[in-house]
Amino acid sequence: MSDLQDNMQKLQPILDRVRASGVMNRIAGQDHPAQSGKTFANHSPVDESHICEVAQSGSADVDAAAQAAKVAFPAWRDFPAVERKKVLHAIADGIVARAEEIALAECWDTGQAIRFMSKAALRGAENFRFFADRAPAARDGQHLPSPTLMNITTRVPIGPVGVITPWNTPFMLSTWKIAPALAAGCTVVHKPAEFSPITARILMEIAEEAGLPPGVWNLVNGMGEEAGKALTEHPDIRAIAFVGESKTGSMIMKQGADTLKRVHFELGGKNPVIVFDDADLERALDAAIFMIYSLNGERCTSSSRLLVQDSIAPEFIARLTERVNNIRVGHPLDPQTEVGPLIHKVHFDKVCSYFDVARQDGATIAAGGAALDQPGHYVRPTLFTQARNDMRIAQEEIFGPVLTVIPFATEEEALHVANDVAYGLTGYVWTNDLTRALRFTNALEAGMIWVNSENVRHLPTPFGGVKASGIGRDGGDWSFEFYMEQKHVGFATGPHKIARLGV
Ligand code: NAD
Repeated sequence: MSDLQDNMQKLQPILDRVRASGVMNRIAGQDHPAQSGKTFANHSPVDESHICEVAQSGSADVDAAAQAAKVAFPAWRDFPAVERKKVLHAIADGIVARAEEIALAECWDTGQAIRFMSKAALRGAENFRFFADRAPAARDGQHLPSPTLMNITTRVPIGPVGVITPWNTPFMLSTWKIAPALAAGCTVVHKPAEFSPITARILMEIAEEAGLPPGVWNLVNGMGEEAGKALTEHPDIRAIAFVGESKTGSMIMKQGADTLKRVHFELGGKNPVIVFDDADLERALDAAIFMIYSLNGERCTSSSRLLVQDSIAPEFIARLTERVNNIRVGHPLDPQTEVGPLIHKVHFDKVCSYFDVARQDGATIAAGGAALDQPGHYVRPTLFTQARNDMRIAQEEIFGPVLTVIPFATEEEALHVANDVAYGLTGYVWTNDLTRALRFTNALEAGMIWVNSENVRHLPTPFGGVKASGIGRDGGDWSFEFYMEQKHVGFATGPHKIARLGV
């Protein structure tokens, strides 16, 4: 039996289960259909087959979940942090135990290739362990004495929070947002993306089996404009941690204005990889290809613009084209597959529309530029060359396996082109000139930059973007800054003079 057949066989009981139960909401430890009784159909991008029905929640469902999170909050806030740590580690253990099931379900639901998703499930466990270990110190503060006061600070969890996640790597991203919220002592209402609801539900089951008290974490499924919007407007939800498109972030900011929501936004990107002629070109080529064609290019940190110095451009592009044409597109459960089908017909149509945009703008399609002639949302890995930075293919986030190449002559030009976009999430700089690397990274407008490296996450470092790519940072203590309030308390150390009025 081939590995693909083997994986399909393992997937079948998972699908049977999810089809039988559908994906219901989970509120205060109980399953709930949407109060309206409405459901929506979830299909696989692999062959457009029906996977399951999903609760299509409205504001009443969100309200019930927010109430549950509000009721559960005081006890979870006051739960001893060392105990909280144990529960979060138990969730990580549960993820590891079900990692294969999570990976298989994620691939079928999203189209992401198994070679990447098996690691994504385990990374989810690592996210829980990382924040579990930091939970006992989350409330630690400072001692800031003044002549008359002993000033101390402490941090307290902000309250019930809403977490809204996208579909590109839904499981990993959910853990990345929810683990620190729970470690901080917040309770959570999670609204996963409508295109990929399955693994959020599995994660929830794992959390409850690990001993998380009912109501601490609630799951509400549904559409962004309906369930998501209601969550961002709910008065008992103190903050919204959102990962998704920049234009959705802007809507959420408006929706949350009346209730003065604290927001944390991880949004889109049009990230440059800049290759100077003194770089290790072999490694730069590997990294540039990996960063745009892995995860189907549906990756916020993808290097979707390649800026290559014109002295090396012809050879670099020729080698790149050859490699792109060799990328294996196929079934996501085949371990050989490097690029799987795109998440949804709507997204597939969006990505394909850029093939015509590129032609109209006068760029060259050096590789790909077409869908595969078979069922499912498969596109060929695509390379646009002869591009200018003012073209739409260089400015807009395509979010597929599509790379736009822009040559440059000088460092100044490279910097100008790199910064001349609305986004500023990541940048990748390839040079062996240390001084140039220092100068360039200092001026590059991005929240995260790697020099002579692909994106290698280190959990204590800050994750987030500038400009249209986001507001706020995750990772290390930055996550706690978002989910917690700073509190200052001043204790008089003696009878200092107090101004006396009306004496
Ligand atoms: P999206 O913005 O369409 O949807 C994300 C989530 O927001 C979904 O759960 C959706 O239902 C919900 N939503 C939609 N409208 C809403 C509204 N009005 N109010 C509240 N919630 C609403 O994004 P997507 O298409 O699912 O994901 C792809 C995007 O996510 C890309 O732009 C990508 O760059 C971005 N992304 C960013 C990061 C990062 O860390 N910066 C990581 C992954 C993905």
